[in-house]
Amino acid sequence: MNTIDVITAKRDGGRLSDEQVDWVVAAYTRGDVADEQMAALAMAILLNGMDDGETARWTQAMIDSGEVLALGDVGRPLVDKHSTGGVGDKITLPLAPLVAACGAAVPQLSGRGLGHTGGTLDKLESIPGWRAALSEAEIAAQLADVGAVICATTPSLAPADRKLYALRDVTGTVESIPLIASSIMSKKIAEGTDGLVLDVKVGSGAFMKTPERARALAETMVAIGGAHGLATTALLTDMSVPLGRAVGNALEVAESVDVLRGGGPTDVVELTVALAREMLALAAITDVDPAQVLASGAAYRVWERMIAAQGGDPSASLPVAAHVEEVAADRSGVLTRLDALAVGVAAWRLGAGRARKEDAVQAAAGVRLLVDVGDEVAAGQPLLELHTDTPDAVAGARAALDGGVRVADGPGPERTLVNEIVRP
Ligand code: URA
Repeated sequence: MNTIDVITAKRDGGRLSDEQVDWVVAAYTRGDVADEQMAALAMAILLNGMDDGETARWTQAMIDSGEVLALGDVGRPLVDKHSTGGVGDKITLPLAPLVAACGAAVPQLSGRGLGHTGGTLDKLESIPGWRAALSEAEIAAQLADVGAVICATTPSLAPADRKLYALRDVTGTVESIPLIASSIMSKKIAEGTDGLVLDVKVGSGAFMKTPERARALAETMVAIGGAHGLATTALLTDMSVPLGRAVGNALEVAESVDVLRGGGPTDVVELTVALAREMLALAAITDVDPAQVLASGAAYRVWERMIAAQGGDPSASLPVAAHVEEVAADRSGVLTRLDALAVGVAAWRLGAGRARKEDAVQAAAGVRLLVDVGDEVAAGQPLLELHTDTPDAVAGARAALDGGVRVADGPGPERTLVNEIVRP
């Protein structure tokens, strides 16, 4: 097999054979295909695409580059959720304990944030003592005991994806639908879940800016799930405004705890329950209403056990920012615009996110939203709070919000949270 033949085949619009896919992914993982060659192939794939068969094979080759988690029988059906990422998207935090409280087991292997979207592990690491790295045996034991685990992916899970994703990040090749779909699905299939619900975000704060691209990504991932015997459903959900009223690590943990205690913003509650319903349907648990379980406090009790099992103190105070400033309305009217991307970039600049993988994040940094889109506000009324330990960051955050927050004569935009469901 020759690397240049594989690159030129895809460059010229051809279809890669199963053998070519298997070989190039394995050779790249071993280091026998150079980064610049894989970058050229990734660009050829971005420009010319891959069909469903090629994408399913590429996914399998990435799974085969490492080990599949052997969780064994944990006594309950395994079901997981993956979000393509958004601003204020803390849904995994209340969702995993909720679905466990309803009788399924949730093996949620997560990542850290890069750019303007937050990472689940960064959020949970704001809880004093909480530990992200678990061994395979610890994951299996916690699933059997508590029913929910949120932890870091193990190093042996789809190593080809880790290497390729880092390369795509610096070569302008992240946005290819077959490459995104195979990247996400290889990790989820290798994790060994029996069912998967995908939350594909659409809007300014999401990877996918249009419903058409989001639908294409959802359909590709649902097809990969089908080809690998993994029951997969995808929801297309709104990411034009941030989810909830908290954006930033500790701020989002606090909001998730509010939801688990029966309060919290209605959009976070609505999406958590909608995703839980789909996950329970895949786990064939049909006699439990997740909305009632959430209201009963049972999910909060699972949360406490899930955090404590990983060394965290669920009753400890969360970090608080050294510096808080408000952004006020420049006129009276209706809040007609609260752009997810603008708020995400502001939180990132305040210290909640990282620009490079090696950067540290501030646990307490972020943005708190004080009003919702569509609310009437008075001139001078505070709309947002900017939280940071580094006050010099505030000017950059304010610049990010310029044009992203608008008070006008109204009315505010209509917002539907769950726009479509893609099933096999
Ligand atoms: N998330 C992933 O895991 N992979 C991608 O390619 C994009 C988002």
